[in-house]
Amino acid sequence: MAIAMERSGGGPLIGRNVLFKANLLAPAKPEQAVTTHPEILSALAAWVKGKNPVTNLSVSDSPGYLFAGQWALFEGNCGLRALKEKWGFDISPLNSKGFAETRTSFSATLGRFRIPIKASEADTLFNVAKCKTHVETEITACLKNTFGYLDTPTRKRAHRSGSIGKLCEAILDAHLSRVPDWNVIDAVVGMEGNGPSHGNPKPLGWVIASENALAADVVAAWMMGYRNPFSIPLLAAAARRGIGPASRSHIDLVGSTWENILSPRFRKATSALRRFFPTPLRGLAHTLVKQTPFWDPSCCIFCGACEKVCPAGAIRINGRTVLIDPEKCVRCLCCHEMCPVGAIGIRRNIFARFLLRQK
Ligand code: SF4
Ligand code: SF4
Repeated sequence: MAIAMERSGGGPLIGRNVLFKANLLAPAKPEQAVTTHPEILSALAAWVKGKNPVTNLSVSDSPGYLFAGQWALFEGNCGLRALKEKWGFDISPLNSKGFAETRTSFSATLGRFRIPIKASEADTLFNVAKCKTHVETEITACLKNTFGYLDTPTRKRAHRSGSIGKLCEAILDAHLSRVPDWNVIDAVVGMEGNGPSHGNPKPLGWVIASENALAADVVAAWMMGYRNPFSIPLLAAAARRGIGPASRSHIDLVGSTWENILSPRFRKATSALRRFFPTPLRGLAHTLVKQTPFWDPSCCIFCGACEKVCPAGAIRINGRTVLIDPEKCVRCLCCHEMCPVGAIGIRRNIFARFLLRQK
């Protein structure tokens, strides 16, 4: 970690209260590659304490709806308890101090919204993301990790449009509401396939660090086999809004070469099928390349997460049946992401299946 911080420019000034905004999507074991690995958090804590021994460290995130009241599960499953003992971390949900209204001047789509006081008041905020694929936004790394600032109603509002363009702008609104002071991506073991919850671990062997989240994400996307990272709508939108470099040539990659870090056989999420369309036609791609959720009764545990998380009110649990209303569904796939046992599958239409064969 010390090498990554050094090579990325030396890291930020370390204030009294330091927040690690980790990716704690679900209380999964570190080896499942769903969450930021505890060894990454521990190594970063060692680096921070080396800079300022009296700093107060906090690790936090807003987990998915189902797990919001089950914080103890995270401490146990995600390997955080040992960190708490070793570094004296405060480990608590991002919303544990409540929310504060943001300014709206930077907002492209959300207008007025709230962000956690924990994030807005942190003297130094590290964005400590995980390198994963994503069924909706193709990849998730630093920019997507700060979407976790938002409260549940605002996240639902962002998903409800069913437009990938509007979702990306909402993600960037969240990011700009509290720009992290430094960004670290755990790419030691990433996730390939249909992440961010149900893909497969993929060893990569890297830690990415940068002052700029978009620059870090471009490196992560390249690592995941995207030879044009700006073809990913979220990264393109971030570049348009001036959040970071607009070209890979503007990034000073230190510590390796672009060819050396590329993982060409990294399995992408099915959302990557939209890239068969030129960027201006990506909205049309969402209509033509249909990915719809379906319920698999064989492994459902009737936890209710899908019903609670659905932004369109399209899911209803009726006794021992989960009903998905195709008329209401906006195909955001949040239900797939949040189902803890993989009982929401993704069905592709004939066009999507055809494109899959061309890959
Ligand atoms: S489909 Fe998944 S999220 Fe929905 S009730 Fe069943 S187990 Fe829970
Ligand atoms: S049913 Fe699933 S994919 Fe459809 S809107 Fe609800 S959460 Fe999104």
